[in-house]
Amino acid sequence: MMEIEKEMDVEDSHIRCKQRTAESEKVLDYDYKKCVGCSICVALCPKKALAEGPLQEIAKGMDAPPVLIDPDACVFCGMCANFCPVHAFRMTVKEKVPTTENALATEIS
Ligand code: SF4
Ligand code: SF4
Repeated sequence: MMEIEKEMDVEDSHIRCKQRTAESEKVLDYDYKKCVGCSICVALCPKKALAEGPLQEIAKGMDAPPVLIDPDACVFCGMCANFCPVHAFRMTVKEKVPTTENALATEIS
């Protein structure tokens, strides 16, 4: 069975989820300051890995992410990054090339 490592870290307004396998490293970067809370990503995530944050409190001035991410449920499909109208989600995929030391980096969004 393929080994999958996941981790999550927070830096300023960026919440980053990472998934590493023998073949690739994927990073899903959510910049919650860019997010307008439209909830398109929450509705379309095929794994229900996204949920609405405290939108009413945020509208009154609370500093919190409009979208909450469950990194265990996320399968790094990139749909949220592809459909977010303001590019608050970005996904980066680095494919590991087995025959060389070089990795091929692809920016999806
Ligand atoms: S990458 Fe896919 S599974 Fe993960 S949060 Fe986005 S839409 Fe959901
Ligand atoms: S689609 Fe983009 S702007 Fe809308 S809630 Fe999701 S991250 Fe925020």
